[in-house]
Amino acid sequence: MCKVIAICNQKGGVSKTTTTVNLGVGLVREGKKVLVIDADPQGNLSQSLGVEKPDELEIALPSIMEKIIMDKDFDATEGIIHHEEGIDLMPCNIDLSGVDVSLVNAMSREFVLKTYVESVREHYDYILIDCMPSLGMITVNSLTAADSVLIPVQAAYLPVKGLEQLITTIFRVKKHLNPNIQFEGILISMLNARTNYAKDIMDLIKDYYGESISIFQSRIPFSVRAAETSAAGVSIFTLDKKHPVASAYEELTKEVIAHE
Ligand code: ATP
Ligand code: MG
Repeated sequence: MCKVIAICNQKGGVSKTTTTVNLGVGLVREGKKVLVIDADPQGNLSQSLGVEKPDELEIALPSIMEKIIMDKDFDATEGIIHHEEGIDLMPCNIDLSGVDVSLVNAMSREFVLKTYVESVREHYDYILIDCMPSLGMITVNSLTAADSVLIPVQAAYLPVKGLEQLITTIFRVKKHLNPNIQFEGILISMLNARTNYAKDIMDLIKDYYGESISIFQSRIPFSVRAAETSAAGVSIFTLDKKHPVASAYEELTKEVIAHE
């Protein structure tokens, strides 16, 4: 059985992409077959996994989504890049902005990404979708295609307040498009050990959302080492396996597997 997890938060820079890479590679290290889908026209996930110029790729998520919108056939394996650490990547580039526009008039416009995901699903144990920082049509497509949503939140007061809009969107998707979507959990990321934010944030999340959304026990510490992985084109496990950020992502991976 394959599980599709959307890594989602409309706030920018909360570690969606970093979490997609490290959870993805973490799952591979536990023996799982994993596809990560870059659903952001910035192409950060593709770059973080070593695609230097995503805009020059001929086949990527936008070209496949265009084919689906035009009702053309596509090969489910086309465009997938095999990364040295064992994960597969469906890359993305700036053309996704154009797809966003074409979707406005497309038939079943919320289900285009789901059509793609369903075509590759049988080959994987996990598919992670790295969402873009917006709640527009591409993100609605990501949520419609997903079995669950993992929400990285930066350990600070304001980002937590901003979660309301995201959660409202998820409930709307659940009501109208994808009744089975579940919350994988909230991941507290970029945590500065010198502040006592984590506890405050967890209390705040509980106050706002009750027990309905769980918070992962694992928290990702703030560290420049985490940021260096993108430039290196590899995960924290390859860059610095003994680093606390690697241990935190390893723990997160185990929690996700325990949800199976
Ligand atoms: P966007 O909304 O633009 O897609 P994002 O939510 O995907 O952003 P990332 O790109 O993963 O966020 O992270 C934002 C920046 O913070 C990047 O420069 C990344 O390298 C850095 N970063 C990620 N995780 C950590 C961490 N634990 N500690 C310090 N820096 C981090
Ligand atoms: Mg990103």
